Amino acid sequence: MNLSFHGAASCVTGSCHLLDVDGFRILVDCGMFQGPDELFSSNDMPFGFDPESVSVVLLTHAHLDHCGRLPLLVKKGFRGPIIATLPTRYLAEIVLWDAAHLQEEKTRAGEGGERRRSPRTEGSPDRRSGQRHALLYTLPDVIDTMALFARPAEYEMPVNLAPGIDASFHNAGHILGSSSIRVTVTRPGRKTRILFSGDLGPEVPALLSPSDPPLDNDYVVMETTYGDRLHRSFAASKEELLGVLTDTRSRKGNVLIPTFALERAQDLLSVFREWFQEGRLPKDLHVFLDSPMAIDVTQIYGRFPELLSEEARRLTAAGEGQLFLFPGLRMTRSAQESRSIRDIPDSRVVLAGSGMISGGRILHHLSQEIDNPRSSLVFVGFQSEGTLGRRIVDGAKTVTLLGRECDVRIGTHFINGFSAHADQGDLLDWCRPMKAPETVFLVHGERPSLSGFREVLEKEGWTRIHIPVLHEIVEIPEKPSARKRKPAVSQI
Ligand SMILES: [Zn+2]
Ligand SMILES: [Zn+2]
Repeated sequence: MNLSFHGAASCVTGSCHLLDVDGFRILVDCGMFQGPDELFSSNDMPFGFDPESVSVVLLTHAHLDHCGRLPLLVKKGFRGPIIATLPTRYLAEIVLWDAAHLQEEKTRAGEGGERRRSPRTEGSPDRRSGQRHALLYTLPDVIDTMALFARPAEYEMPVNLAPGIDASFHNAGHILGSSSIRVTVTRPGRKTRILFSGDLGPEVPALLSPSDPPLDNDYVVMETTYGDRLHRSFAASKEELLGVLTDTRSRKGNVLIPTFALERAQDLLSVFREWFQEGRLPKDLHVFLDSPMAIDVTQIYGRFPELLSEEARRLTAAGEGQLFLFPGLRMTRSAQESRSIRDIPDSRVVLAGSGMISGGRILHHLSQEIDNPRSSLVFVGFQSEGTLGRRIVDGAKTVTLLGRECDVRIGTHFINGFSAHADQGDLLDWCRPMKAPETVFLVHGERPSLSGFREVLEKEGWTRIHIPVLHEIVEIPEKPSARKRKPAVSQI
């Protein structure tokens, strides 16, 4: 048996781990490389294994860095089943359709500036940056991929993959349907359990039930996105955001929040609802969810109240989606509705994608407000190197927005406690109750985060720690199964 790492290995994105059990090949996630990670591992490079040889895909959750290369895997010959929870399947469909659309749009935009197309690649260069945008797959590939999703997995219920090989999904508390997945390989006299953490949520997630992993594992593959730092608390972050909303309204300015469509938008909507209910925000404040994708995702969240936290469940009991509704909220799906937002004379709050201002409707709202010092731009998520969001967070005085040079005079705020990711303390709380595994493999982190978390894990007594590099293959020795106790003989 061996385990190989074909993404999120010594970097954050592109999660893709292959467990080979005597030729039965289990792929856990098949994500896209994003942001700076793309520079050293492009998405159109070979996977590092033959897609046709993969027997089954297990998908931890629907974020693009975990499911984004699935249609490419299918295009290159994978024909086995894909197993995920039902919400992950619904959300992955939304995410993959969006990814295919985006690639087609970028490729079309690049074609106008292209002088000579290389016959060897399908990509097209970006006119401004000269970067090549690979058209990895199109909508029909996404349809082919969705057709391979098998009967959905339920939390805690083992799924038989092959004789002696089972998988079980366990709540990871990260986004709706997110899972840690344990593969158990049973052979005569041997039993080996390998746990893949997937992405983990904070110890107390904003909307979801907390993570619930199995505790007795022989090997653990663990994410370490924030392995070296602590987040501001959710409660403190909420207060900070409320302060920005109140101050901006008193100046008659507008608040723009670049929002990730999946989880962050729903977290924020539930926080707004709470404030409206408690009377901490005026009932006539206009709040817009200006993102068709975030609107779709919000509807999916409304369909799974049983996966939400107890408090969220109590609030949704009144009706589907109730948790996210409050006076003053408008969900604007069409482009025309979106444009009409700017005609509203009163103070308003706009949640729009993309989360790092690398595209989407937020660009249009920001171009209206960027030189208005009465307004506020609030970042509630990580801003990757090279994005417009990151340049503004880093204090750029001028930026180019929709082809126009603009002065940045809008008030900017960065609030980091809304993350759907565990911080160092949460990661430790996740693994502390477990028995120390034979080896823990640290993945899904930048180098400082990986080494920072290695240090704290060593202090916990987890001494066999390995940080794999891309395409590394590691032998996994099988473990002898615990000796069965003799059944107790009842005394007569
Ligand atoms: Zn994730
Ligand atoms: Zn991830």
